[in-house]
Amino acid sequence: MVSHFYSTRNLALEAQLPAVVFESLAPDGGLYWPDQLPTLPASFWENAANLSFPELAYELAKPVLGKWIPDQALHTICHEAFNFPVPLVELEQDVFLLELFHGPSLAFKDVGARFMARIMSFLLQQGQWKADVGKPVHVLVATSGDTGGAVAMGFLQTPGIEVTILYPSGKVSHLQEQQLTTLGHNIRAVEVNGSFDDCQALVKKAFADTDLRQQVQLTSANSINFCRLFPQSFYYAWAAVQLRQNAAVKERLVVAVPSGNYGNLCAALIAQAMGCPITHLIASSNANNVVPRYLRSGQYAPLPTVPTISNAMDVGLPSNWERISHHLGGDYATIRKAISGYDFSDEVTTLCMEQIHGLRHQVLEPHTAVGYLGLKSYKKYNLPCTGIVAATAHPAKFLEAMPEKVAADVTIPERLAKLSDRTKASTQMGPDYDSFRQFLLNR
Ligand SMILES: *Cc1c(COP(=O)(O)O)cnc(C)c1O
Repeated sequence: MVSHFYSTRNLALEAQLPAVVFESLAPDGGLYWPDQLPTLPASFWENAANLSFPELAYELAKPVLGKWIPDQALHTICHEAFNFPVPLVELEQDVFLLELFHGPSLAFKDVGARFMARIMSFLLQQGQWKADVGKPVHVLVATSGDTGGAVAMGFLQTPGIEVTILYPSGKVSHLQEQQLTTLGHNIRAVEVNGSFDDCQALVKKAFADTDLRQQVQLTSANSINFCRLFPQSFYYAWAAVQLRQNAAVKERLVVAVPSGNYGNLCAALIAQAMGCPITHLIASSNANNVVPRYLRSGQYAPLPTVPTISNAMDVGLPSNWERISHHLGGDYATIRKAISGYDFSDEVTTLCMEQIHGLRHQVLEPHTAVGYLGLKSYKKYNLPCTGIVAATAHPAKFLEAMPEKVAADVTIPERLAKLSDRTKASTQMGPDYDSFRQFLLNR
């Protein structure tokens, strides 16, 4: 059972779950990591295929969060958070798509956001975290698209929590914008006349503003937060135990993760550490390829972010790599053994979407296509394996980034289509910090 968390930069800097959840980042700038990842016994894994997704989630959550969240509450949280299907779909022989996009915002980030919102709400209700300024906890997120929607929908009407989402004006898709700006209640959208980096800079400034933070209690909901990333391990466990039931599945089970900030890949490592029968992991990226380059060369050399068609993975400096590296002892040989990395240009990704559509009549959106390509590259030069590709978003969210012929085959889910006509409400502002600060104080 996990008894505390510590900073990846200092093992002696210990914290309890409430601080991990509400502070996100350790005070020394490191990321929180649990003192252990309890391994569930082989007998558990052998019988786990009989469990529903929420039940499996509950069994994995208990040994990690049980010290702070009693069983009954954790059980309820798992059932409420994971109320949508996570299908495993066979694409071709030995290749399965794990469809993570059936939640409210149609991206895998729903899993983390919905779980985290409920954990936060529980800790607040129990008084385990004192909102010491006597005001609601204020979640701040800068988004280039997908994170904002998942957080907005995940935290909608969560008692005691206000959410402010900053996004760059004109730089997110219409449907993404509708997801951020039409919900009302405790969700507010700030439309910044600037870039995503400007939004992120405003959030960082607010977090660094000690005077502001005495008046407004700020917290973050991106994947630096352990509680957003941890629940993502549940679906890898879910996929692996389903496949283990299938006699045609190979002994070696490999997971390919289209990656940006590397939270999702880190979650797969967590599942593996808890005993989930996954053999190997694949980090698949677009031109923002710092990790695949590191895996090839041993040199960790970040470069500025470049825009691509799989824009939710346009991250030049992935925050969660610090966790992954720490977990694997920081040793290149160990990391290389656990993870293979590949990266693909937009041209190759587009060709892949066209080919899969032509050959298999299956629609892949750009992020999932990058994941699929990574798996195929790995399979070419390694022992036979069965592969799982994390299908991270619904194709309807990325129509503009897909070949026309493929996009024409996408059915827009009704709940997304409905959003289209709702009235947008946002506060527009420039990228200067003073107006943003005032906005936060006036709440
Ligand atoms: C966020 C996102 C990713 C990248 O996930 P990380 O955990 O940041 O590596 C991949 N695909 C989609 C669709 C996303 O929204």
